[in-house]
Amino acid sequence: MNTDTFSLRHIGPRESDHKDMLNTIGLDSIDELIHQTIPDNIRLQTELNLDKALSEQEYLNHIHELASKNKVNKSYIGLGYHPSNLPAVIQRNILENPGWYTAYTPYQAEIAQGRLEALLNFQTMVTDLTGMELANASLLDEGTAAAEAMALLFAVRERAQKKANVNKFFVSDDILPQTLSVLQTRAIPIGVELVVGNADEFDFSNEYFGAIVQYPGKSGEILNIEDFISKANAADIKVAVAADILSLVKLEAPGKFGADVVVGTTQRFGIPMGYGGPHAAYFATKEAYKRNIPGRIIGVTKDTDGNRALRMALQTREQHIKRDRATSNICTAQVLLAVMAGMYAVYHGPNGLTYIANKVHNSACTLANALEFLGLEQTNASFFDTIQVKVEDSSKIKELAEANDINFYYPNNNTVAISINETTTLSDLNDILNVFASTENKEAVSIQEIGEHTIIPENVARTSAFLENEVFNSHHSETELMRYIKKLERKDLSLNHSMISLGSCTMKLNAAAEMLPLSWANWGNIHPFAPANQVEGYLTALKTLEDQLTEITGFAATSLQPNSGAQGEFAGLMVIKAYHESRGDHHRNICLIPSSAHGTNPASAVMAGMKVVVTKSTEEGNIDVDDLREKAELHKDNLSCLMVTYPSTHGVYEASIKDITQIIHDNGGQVYMDGANMNAQVGLTNPGNIGADVCHLNLHKTFAIPHGGGGPGVGPICVAEQLKPFLPGNPIIASGGDNAITAISAAPFGSALACLISYGYIKMLGAQGLKESTRIAILNANYLKERLQGHFDTLYSGERGRAAHEMIVDCRAFKANGIEVGDIAKRLMDYGFHAPTVSFPVAGTLMIEPTESESKAEMDRFCDAMISIRKEIEAATKDNPNNVLKNAPHTLEMLTANEWDLPYTREEAAYPLEYVKDNKFWPSVRRVDDAYGDRNLICTCAPIEDFM
Ligand SMILES: *Cc1c(COP(=O)(O)O)cnc(C)c1O
Repeated sequence: MNTDTFSLRHIGPRESDHKDMLNTIGLDSIDELIHQTIPDNIRLQTELNLDKALSEQEYLNHIHELASKNKVNKSYIGLGYHPSNLPAVIQRNILENPGWYTAYTPYQAEIAQGRLEALLNFQTMVTDLTGMELANASLLDEGTAAAEAMALLFAVRERAQKKANVNKFFVSDDILPQTLSVLQTRAIPIGVELVVGNADEFDFSNEYFGAIVQYPGKSGEILNIEDFISKANAADIKVAVAADILSLVKLEAPGKFGADVVVGTTQRFGIPMGYGGPHAAYFATKEAYKRNIPGRIIGVTKDTDGNRALRMALQTREQHIKRDRATSNICTAQVLLAVMAGMYAVYHGPNGLTYIANKVHNSACTLANALEFLGLEQTNASFFDTIQVKVEDSSKIKELAEANDINFYYPNNNTVAISINETTTLSDLNDILNVFASTENKEAVSIQEIGEHTIIPENVARTSAFLENEVFNSHHSETELMRYIKKLERKDLSLNHSMISLGSCTMKLNAAAEMLPLSWANWGNIHPFAPANQVEGYLTALKTLEDQLTEITGFAATSLQPNSGAQGEFAGLMVIKAYHESRGDHHRNICLIPSSAHGTNPASAVMAGMKVVVTKSTEEGNIDVDDLREKAELHKDNLSCLMVTYPSTHGVYEASIKDITQIIHDNGGQVYMDGANMNAQVGLTNPGNIGADVCHLNLHKTFAIPHGGGGPGVGPICVAEQLKPFLPGNPIIASGGDNAITAISAAPFGSALACLISYGYIKMLGAQGLKESTRIAILNANYLKERLQGHFDTLYSGERGRAAHEMIVDCRAFKANGIEVGDIAKRLMDYGFHAPTVSFPVAGTLMIEPTESESKAEMDRFCDAMISIRKEIEAATKDNPNNVLKNAPHTLEMLTANEWDLPYTREEAAYPLEYVKDNKFWPSVRRVDDAYGDRNLICTCAPIEDFM
């Protein structure tokens, strides 16, 4: 037997476990189980057509070879992406550390205090640098953050503006091109009219509700935002500022001038460009708009004992609760990247950041002077890091620059734009100078040193302080930062501790071999707008990944652009809309969504300008086909599409799925399949086969990208032939369909760097390994289901009593004993486990998804814990809430206190089962008080005395 296959490393149960597991289920073979689980009429008849699986070492050799086909030029392209130095201590201890990258979104705050604190640092850094009151814990990229700013300003229009339907939004023509494209995509469906123009000539008429300006602009020029904002405010026009985070060290914070929203990217705070992403965008605004902020906000609160604790604040804004009335569809964001950027600020502190910003600015000034000395004209009157040089023919410069491994940006034939960055050295400046000198046939006088300069207008030069909190002034030696990162890491339960069986989230192995290449310069240091002939390695990997996903979904084409599942939903719906419109069907705007759908579905539909019509579920948890037919027929003249999750969010393969898709097609609609549950399909069935037209995939679920504590994600869409022409494009790099819609994300291939993980996953598993993963995911789920049988009731199963790759256990009956599902979630922490998904899609239940990566031994421990908790529930009574469940989780501090007056032993609290002694995880706080935190909103690292 060949033991050197990746699938043996990726899949948990050994072959020798299968018999036992099947015995528990009461079957003889996995084939039989699959036969009982997936309806015959949707089973694939052929094997996936993919390359032969590579072993880990073969893959590493292969991806190394591909990396060598990317050419790392010195990049001065700018436009929102800059080379930067990722401190090695952050690379090694966060980016390359499963303790950080395998965590989930911090829904279970008591075992997530580490990343919550790291995110609070990020928010504090953003509020300080922007001068705003409140910041969120990241968005997907600068383009989408700008679009969210527009949407927020539209939503908070003055009453009179709403009444008069004031719907114009001014966009400075100095905005980044990719941001403009994303704004265009997002404006039309919500009824906003964009007007692009020169900010200096804007008339501030009352036809506008808002405006966005770039600070500094894409040209490098610094707009007088003090003047712009004050005129805008006087005319009741709210202003969003897209600001370069590093420039804010030297430029006055937009908040000081009265900006309403400030957005941007934190990429240049130590995050590799990665050919476009992933990076954390930031979003900061005024306290007054707190209910309208998109994405997650981390806030301070207290735990049961009154100790300071952190958790996600104001969650009632989110799609999970608000659905089609949510403020945005953001679910997965960019947590890992936000953690890293925040640590960059912790490591450098205010002095370090000032040094870096000065160095960048001085270098740009020095270069500008040297070029002028050479007789060239630099046209920016003021700038931070970007200069523009007038030339006769920029193509000549381009040729020579590229021959010298240098990339500039060429806005037109007579202009060369050069953006200086943190990594730029004196010798780099001379190399740049020499390119110009040679083209001019002159001898350059070499630059001897980087002088002290400033060309920042006085009224926008920064005078306000920033990063004064202790955390930004303490960890400046490597030893200190290493220990700080470790201290936080220890508070978080990640996959390197135990199973995280979150249903619908597919927390499988994120293999080290899949992750390793992300640290390599030939993948990291590539600008998304680099010329095609420098990125052959990337284009090969990304094209292959597109083809792999197209094959796996049974469709015709794939776009990797969306940066999360929810963005994929929006992208897919916009593609459907473009398709209808191409046929003259501008009126088709009804989107049918089953009541059990994930909250992002209705939120995305609303963003795409659709009207949501909810269809019913049956008692068994299936789509009510009669109700669906009735509604499809009722709306047939205006039907745009159905959004359906398959297998359903209830964990069932509906046998009627083909009828369902047929009904939609018969009534002129398209079928959107939410692919979050693709892990139950790969290699056995596919969306094309069930009759869907488009689906998104969550590469951060099914295809092994780690969840990063709440991102990065990649949410590609795969489409049938008729939708292919409309796949999204990019204004700078030719990409997308022949009739592409405008951009969904800022970068042409979204988070290209993270896509390598899924590429490696598919390369190493191959057709056989992928199919086996699906089979074992189903085996594991059904094994768990049978082991819990008799202790917990499972809601819903297929026609033959089987679960899909996940199952829902009903905890509602325990209310009789005074126990809520949340108590079980908290008590699992004492047993060393992260809770399954709580109360989705059914309130009062747990949804468990073990994935194929969990071993039988780990699942057995989890089942033992659940069964033990079941006994504890039995012993609990409604009238006496002083029990081991209600008091969970138990901290080391309370257990080692001199006082102990609880009606059970310390051992029962902390070591309820023998295995726990061997691998104890200590929650760092007791149960957090959500309501208190929402009433006393604090979202920065203010000292505890400020709010207690
Ligand atoms: C996770 C999930 C989504 C959203 O994906 P994000 O990447 O978090 O935006 C949508 N639908 C379902 C069913 C999901 O489980």
